[in-house]
Amino acid sequence: MKYLSTRGQVKNIPFKQAVMMGLAEDGGLLLPESIPQLTPGDLDALAKLAYPELAFHVMSYFIEDIPSADLKSMIDRSYSTFTHPDITPLVHKDGLYILELFHGPTLAFKDVALQFLGNIFESLLTESGDHMNILGATSGDTGSAAIYGVRGKRNINIFILHPHKKVSPVQELQMTTVTDENVFNLAIKGTFDDGQQIVKDIFGDLDFKRKYALGAVNSINWARVLAQVVYYFYAWGQVRKETGANQVYFSVPTGNFGDIFAGYIAKRMGLPIKKLVLATNANNILSRFVTAGDYSIGEVHPTFSPSMDIQKASNLERYLYYLFNEDAALLATAMKDFATTGKLVFSEAQIAEINQVFTSASVDNEQTLDTIRNFHTATGYVLDPHTATGVKAGKDLAGGDYPVICLATAHPAKFPDAVSRAIGKDPDRPASLDGLEKRNRRCELVKADMSTIKEFLSKHSLR
Ligand SMILES: *Cc1c(COP(=O)(O)O)cnc(C)c1O
Repeated sequence: MKYLSTRGQVKNIPFKQAVMMGLAEDGGLLLPESIPQLTPGDLDALAKLAYPELAFHVMSYFIEDIPSADLKSMIDRSYSTFTHPDITPLVHKDGLYILELFHGPTLAFKDVALQFLGNIFESLLTESGDHMNILGATSGDTGSAAIYGVRGKRNINIFILHPHKKVSPVQELQMTTVTDENVFNLAIKGTFDDGQQIVKDIFGDLDFKRKYALGAVNSINWARVLAQVVYYFYAWGQVRKETGANQVYFSVPTGNFGDIFAGYIAKRMGLPIKKLVLATNANNILSRFVTAGDYSIGEVHPTFSPSMDIQKASNLERYLYYLFNEDAALLATAMKDFATTGKLVFSEAQIAEINQVFTSASVDNEQTLDTIRNFHTATGYVLDPHTATGVKAGKDLAGGDYPVICLATAHPAKFPDAVSRAIGKDPDRPASLDGLEKRNRRCELVKADMSTIKEFLSKHSLR
């Protein structure tokens, strides 16, 4: 399988190069040249596999340039850090299926992809003799998952900027209690947007980027999407085993369109997904896109589901590539317009096509808490606020004819404030958080400006 850019200027590159490139060099996103088509017989065979074997088979359709034994070993190492034997267990509650994606080291679904990405980076860098300095900004979940993905790995340093005292206490501790020498936490005196802008500006300085071999871990990396395709197959297989149903709905709490795009790929491969339910919080740009063909940037509202508090969904371009019938030139023009106007508008025909695949609702703060409360009353099960948006949208928009699988993207213990508002008590804490407050910490408090961060990087980067 070879990879190409959505904007047409990068073509015919192998998987390994696509992973190392991250964002395509023409500013687009990388995609496989074609999507493998699975037969019902292939699906039956996949449905019988345990998670790591399933991951190996699904990923092998897209990876030709890593020897099987190496790929298997990377997958095994990636998922050996999960605390549940099923890796992503499926539970049946209140007529819905909940796919628990939060049994990795940082208790959010991002571990599924970032544990794997960390192992690929390490392996490819060892092979080439190169090194990499990862730089990123986080509002909480991505930073900790990325840090746990590469902690202690050879040939990689990681620098994560987070806004000082503006991430949740659990998130802050998860990051700053990692004391491995290759991990650098930088608490900036500013906001998440300041951090993101600094990172963008530094990546824009191409000489600096090259000199320090800077790498990124945000959700535009194809390897992250690929790792997430796997659990759609897994959940479908489990539900079919239990119910005999062939078609299913998936409801997905969405921010950057990464997780739900993985579901779209699974559907295009032939997995019988009736529809993908796209749930947003009050930051509803993607809901407006699905329901009205209106993709226009508004203001970011802080909500109880902060990992979905975004306006620009960086992975949407991948879906648009298919919506535009793989016309890279047309897409490149549209994305250039979007960069200046902050707005994309779609035709009736396009909206109809979008609605063949997606249905969507925006779930506000009050509905989020109500959903956590009602679900807890009905089942005793505690949802995190992100998952609750998906459960609400899934209940309202899907089901009746086929089973509904809701992706549980975080453990409720990551967001105790919202949960205790909803149900009057704190969620149970999993063992991995035991004693977190007492552990040693490693973090620098720094000014939120580019020259401060650049100076820090030049002192502490691998060279
Ligand atoms: C990142 C995140 C999301 C949103 O995922 P996208 O791939 O950006 O759409 C949802 N829930 C949680 C808990 C997250 O950390």
